[in-house]
Formats: sequence, structure tokens, C-alpha cells
Amino acid sequence: MSLKYSNKINKIRTFALSLIFVGFIVMYIGIFFRTTMWLMTLFMLLGLLSIIASTVVYFWIGMLSTKAIQVICPTCGKPTKLLGRVDMCMHCREPLTLDPSLEGKEFDEKYNQKRQKES
Ligand SMILES: [Zn+2]
Repeated sequence: MSLKYSNKINKIRTFALSLIFVGFIVMYIGIFFRTTMWLMTLFMLLGLLSIIASTVVYFWIGMLSTKAIQVICPTCGKPTKLLGRVDMCMHCREPLTLDPSLEGKEFDEKYNQKRQKES
């Protein structure tokens, strides 16, 4: 399961989710330092900042989602959202493009390198 080449929106969503986890872990670590007031406060603030950041990222995803173009993936037939000129299907990771001029070499070059095209 490599998240490296996933759909952009999914990728950002994963990032936001991990920020929440990091935030909670950092706050949890802060509890261990409850004898040292300033250190605990520092960890709590860092955790809080991380959670706030993830909220901002989630908001950003919302904005991006409204801008993303919904298409039906030609490979798996499921609806997916495209962000930018080149993106991948959320379900089968098929590289998709909205720009016909990009369909040629740029794609081949990029995905041959990463050995993505198998099916
Ligand atoms: Zn697909």
C-alpha cells in the first residue's frame, strides 16, 4: 500500500488525518511532563496547533473539492475527482488527464518511470 501515487484529494485528506493524530500524540506526551509546567504547556500548544492546522487543511480540501472536476473513470467506471491537469483515479489509480495535449509523451515518461501502468 503506497500512498505516494494516490489521488491528490485523497493524499491531502490523509495528511490532514495524520495531523490530527500527531496533535493528539503530542498532547498525550505533554501529560507525561505535567510536573514541568512550561514543558506541558508547550506540548499542549503544539498539539493544539497541529489540530488547528488539520482543520485548516480540511477546510482547504473542501475548497479544492468544489473546484475539482468530477468525471467517470474510463477504467473502473466509478466517479472520481480530478485536481489540476493530471491526476489519478481515487479507486483504481489510473492516471487521468483533462488536457488532450498531455495524453502523449509526458504521461508515458512520468508513469513508466514509476512503473505504474500494469493493468
Ligand atoms: Zn478508476
